[in-house]
Amino acid sequence: TKPVVAVVGRPNVGKSTLVNRILQRRAAVVQDVPGVTRDRVSYDADWNGREFVLVDTGGWASDADGMAARIAEQAELAISTADAVLFVVDATVGTLDEDEAVVQVLRRSRKPVVVAANKVDDQRAEAEAAAMWNLGLGQPWPVSALHGRGSGDLLDALLEAL
Ligand code: GDP
Ligand code: MG
Repeated sequence: TKPVVAVVGRPNVGKSTLVNRILQRRAAVVQDVPGVTRDRVSYDADWNGREFVLVDTGGWASDADGMAARIAEQAELAISTADAVLFVVDATVGTLDEDEAVVQVLRRSRKPVVVAANKVDDQRAEAEAAAMWNLGLGQPWPVSALHGRGSGDLLDALLEAL
């Protein structure tokens, strides 16, 4: 059976855009507005001839202070059924409490984690991506899901982790 990769992170960081980038088609729904509740959706993917299943964890209903808890809950579900996790953060925003909530779940899971520091659309944003080392989850991979920048290196790292 194919290994399963869960794509997790708070709303609007670009998870669905990254999923589409990896699939090389527009399958996952990209939203400008954060907080749209959706189920987890699985897609068949491959990279360099290796097949795997990508799970887009969608959005979460945003209700002020319950947000971090909901994200952690959703992430926990996705992570528990995955072989590896692609943790997406928005390098242009940095880490927020909601990211921290997911980091706790990731640490406890002991699953391999690859960090995608997304929205690094140009060279200038590389430094912001490097700041994501502070998550304590290893090397952050700078990527622009929108333009494709860095996605090859990210996928190489992901498959190495599987
Ligand atoms: P999700 O909620 O994490 O699935 O995020 P989406 O994939 O729906 O994207 C949220 C917003 O961020 C959309 O407006 C995307 O176009 C935008 N976005 C996603 N990736 C990038 C990126 O690499 N660069 C920039 N500038 N915007 C991005
Ligand atoms: Mg999404």
